[in-house]
Amino acid sequence: RTGEVLLQVKGLKVSYGGIQAVKGVDFEVRQGELVSLIGSNGAGKTTTMKAITRTLNANGGEISYLGRSVQGRGAWDLVKEGLIMVPEGRGVFARMTITENLLMGAYTKNDKAQIAADIERMFVLFPRLKERRDQLAGTMSGGEQQMLAMARALMGHPKLLLLDEPSMGLSPIMVDKIFEVVADVHAQGMTIVLVEQNASRALALANRGYVMESGNITMEGEGKTLLDDPRVRAAYLGE
Ligand code: ATP
Repeated sequence: RTGEVLLQVKGLKVSYGGIQAVKGVDFEVRQGELVSLIGSNGAGKTTTMKAITRTLNANGGEISYLGRSVQGRGAWDLVKEGLIMVPEGRGVFARMTITENLLMGAYTKNDKAQIAADIERMFVLFPRLKERRDQLAGTMSGGEQQMLAMARALMGHPKLLLLDEPSMGLSPIMVDKIFEVVADVHAQGMTIVLVEQNASRALALANRGYVMESGNITMEGEGKTLLDDPRVRAAYLGE
């Protein structure tokens, strides 16, 4: 753990009306890390990500990104500073082409030559997107849409990339492909938070991991250590 702290979350609480979905979460991410957040359905993982990106208001605790509180700031402002999330369900623009979706990902950028170069870079990382550059995003498979959502996020030059359940609902081959891309992007230096129900794959890739249950972090440690932990194996790996 040598990198500087990019994201620090302390005592985070988030509620929906009277329901406290996140009950006091501590969490940090350092430069260059891949941190996995695992836990069953409804544990509060997505809610935590939404509070970090300021798409939901917290009702307690502190979040700082690049050493500055996110309190009172807009999601847009954080995107400009490189805090970029690929939401659960991908959120591609169905009636736009692949290329148009990628351009949307560069909406905080002005340098046209840089944007064109970035699109070419995405086409190298995701050859499938290149073949289909003029196809409407809504007509692509789930796995292709996930690739597009990741590429669109990368167009914004994230400093911290948050991936919310990228493997959800995909075929085994596509799941392999998506985890391969996550590993590649991380190997190239990207700092990543990976929220996943596929605990074994997510922990195998992670430098560190957190386990979330009913709105609390209940375990944390190195990815490999968590992967070998009998409690994790019993609860999340069906053993
Ligand atoms: P999943 O993998 O199913 O998305 P999760 O760990 O991401 O699970 P959250 O989506 O953060 O969990 O949900 C945490 C809790 O908050 C759940 O009990 C859920 O029902 C509740 N919740 C989520 N969104 C809302 C909402 N918009 N209104 C009310 N309750 C919500």
